[in-house]
Amino acid sequence: MAMIQCPECKKQVSNEADKCPNCGIPIKRGLLGKAGTERVINVGCLVILLVLVAIGILTCL
Ligand SMILES: [Zn+2]
Repeated sequence: MAMIQCPECKKQVSNEADKCPNCGIPIKRGLLGKAGTERVINVGCLVILLVLVAIGILTCL
């Protein structure tokens, strides 16, 4: 069992707790790791979107 910092109230909460006992927001396990992965996926999607838009513009010209 590890203690993590609540993203909402910044208090120490067990990472095995379903929600913060202080403010009641849901605590996701491995929050930091998942957030990092989501950020990488979002950047990847953005690049793909930009490439598709660029191809669309070039084919219209
Ligand atoms: Zn909290």
